[in-house]
Amino acid sequence: MGLDEDALEYHSSDPPGKIEIATTKPTNTQRDLSLAYSPGVAAPCEEIAENPDDAFTYTAKGNLVGVVSDGSAVLGLGDIGPEAGKPVMEGKGVLFKRFADIDVFDIELDTDSADAMVNTVRAMEPTFGGINLEDIAAPECFEVERRLREDLDIPVFHDDQHGTAIISGAALVNAAEIADKDLADLDIVFSGAGASAIASARFYVSLGARKENITMCDSSGIITEDRAQHEELNEFKEEFARDVPGGDLADAMAGADVFVGLSVGGIVSETMVQSMAENPAVFAMANPDPEIDYETAKNARDDTVIMATGRSDYPNQVNNVLGFPFIFRGALDVRATEINEEMKVAAAEALAELAQQDVPDAVVKAYGDQPLQFGPEYIIPKPLDPRVLFEVTPAVAEAAMESGAARRELDLDDYVEKLEA
Ligand code: NAP
Ligand code: MG
Repeated sequence: MGLDEDALEYHSSDPPGKIEIATTKPTNTQRDLSLAYSPGVAAPCEEIAENPDDAFTYTAKGNLVGVVSDGSAVLGLGDIGPEAGKPVMEGKGVLFKRFADIDVFDIELDTDSADAMVNTVRAMEPTFGGINLEDIAAPECFEVERRLREDLDIPVFHDDQHGTAIISGAALVNAAEIADKDLADLDIVFSGAGASAIASARFYVSLGARKENITMCDSSGIITEDRAQHEELNEFKEEFARDVPGGDLADAMAGADVFVGLSVGGIVSETMVQSMAENPAVFAMANPDPEIDYETAKNARDDTVIMATGRSDYPNQVNNVLGFPFIFRGALDVRATEINEEMKVAAAEALAELAQQDVPDAVVKAYGDQPLQFGPEYIIPKPLDPRVLFEVTPAVAEAAMESGAARRELDLDDYVEKLEA
């Protein structure tokens, strides 16, 4: 059977879907039930009414994330609507649970404006310890997230933006290390100016790249000051408009150190890779077909091309599952009020550093015994590496405490021990 048939069978076998609610307390006796519900439940209600933070003590709020989508930009499928996006949101819940033991309510919203979405999610704040926005189209996603971050006292994180930025940011840090280049000197070219590209460009600046060294291209070519003046560019593209002559992606890539593809498959040629600077990094992340395929990019030149894609069948897969479970785990455990820049940078740096360490045999085995050692073919950890939890999660929790985002302090040594248990 092909993957499609298998997937339909996987989802439709009884019970339909992939998730269910489980209870965590005894429910065997009449007394159990009168504790779980009326009349016993009134006692925790009154405690929370008195002190809202007690919701973290007496309810599941502190381990519950809302995965919220309007279905307007689902995977590579586009605007298929909220109902059709539900398998993806349930799937996100599966990953949260599998990698970080976080519970998820998937929330598919039939909203038709940023306003409606913001108002709806704002009203759901009491339920959740955090909100993962998912598969919402650009540019609305930027406004929705900005307004919710301002209004809500729990983390709000649009994974398609920041997850991609953080994982590819870790790859960038290590590609620079391998090519022996300084982040501040990297000449970086983006293909794509949508949700993931804008967020990644902003984040690379947080990591130490310089905004004036970033050139962004959309489907009409380089985003220049001139275009910003003469065309109706959204404010997010304008943010990266450069005072350079107009041109296409090939013009932009000549001499560049890093190519970041978050656009569409097949638009980068061998010649374009040949025109880049010494030991270039090529992150061709369009899914399912990268901007240039792995072999073509690697074989384009004699020096080292440090290649990453969104695909699991090649080295250096930029896979968001390396980020969101652990970032939320750390944020929830300190009852964070937000996931701020410091926490994101801490996650990226922890991932970059982990990739530089020796890989345990069990992880090498899980990936078919291919050698995994820090270098051009291994610049980011593998998703099934259990050490990601032990490294990224405490780094995020620590950054939350140091940046003032934590509602409670944890002893980090105890915390790591607890995670490893
Ligand atoms: P998006 O918001 O729709 O943005 C897509 C961008 O690509 C737009 O700015 C669009 O230009 C641009 N584009 C389209 N055709 C182009 C062309 N021929 N040349 C240059 N730019 C072109 O999408 P997104 O969510 O950012 O995702 C973009 C791609 O990255 C998708 O393939 C997605 O699967 C992939 N992605 C991969 C990962 C990963 O590997 N972990 C993570 C996130 C996204 P206009 O603005 O002019 O329309
Ligand atoms: Mg997504």
